Amino acid sequence: MRILCSNDDGYLAFGLNVLASAAHAFGEVSIVAPDREQSATSSSLTLHHPLRARRARDGAIMVDGTPTDCVILAVGELLEHRPDVVLSGINHGANMGEDVLYSGTVAAAIEATVLGIPAIAFSYVGRDAQEIEGWGPLIRELLSDMLDLSRFPSDTLLSVNLPPIDPAEVKGVRVTSLGRRRYQDSLTRAEDPSGREYFWIGGGVTSWEGPEDSDFRAINEGFVSVTPLHLDLTNYRLMDEVRQWGLHIR
Ligand code: MN
Repeated sequence: MRILCSNDDGYLAFGLNVLASAAHAFGEVSIVAPDREQSATSSSLTLHHPLRARRARDGAIMVDGTPTDCVILAVGELLEHRPDVVLSGINHGANMGEDVLYSGTVAAAIEATVLGIPAIAFSYVGRDAQEIEGWGPLIRELLSDMLDLSRFPSDTLLSVNLPPIDPAEVKGVRVTSLGRRRYQDSLTRAEDPSGREYFWIGGGVTSWEGPEDSDFRAINEGFVSVTPLHLDLTNYRLMDEVRQWGLHIR
């Protein structure tokens, strides 16, 4: 099996190393990842300047672009063979609820799905990335079930979140839906040292809501959360209602 690993935290990130090491048990692993931090770049494409790819000493390829750029370049130009599966992460931080709309980690898996390649995004909910190291054996176990590609759903990626606990204490795996994240005070308005106003997005307090099977509930209760995601954002239930608005021109 040919496995492409990427991420959004950059090719030096701890989580990418743990993921690629776990993947080695299942086939030939290639790494094509951003050369720097690209978190929260979502599905950004670099269209207005050239992209450069460089090979690191360990054979990994780093690209001065986004996770989406990496997957497109890897599949279209850089790899000798099309990968059978794309793994993204392990992200240093959660990707639950609306996070998946901003995440570069999930975006790399989304791009693979767009290209018709099965893909799985992994994210660690804890704050200390070094703790990801202990997850290697469990990731290998998860992959051995997930990489049965004959049953992998089409047009769907899996988003896996790992709870911030000792892997030995994990209660199991739950298949989940996306919860809803509520940010409070996550926008800062302040003045820089020269007196100019600036804004900073991020930080603040977050709270969650969502049904029984939500991702954040599984994480809070000590389970690994696996959310199947598809790319069709159409709200099918509302199509008839919106048709009844009688939208027309002339
Ligand atoms: Mn990240």
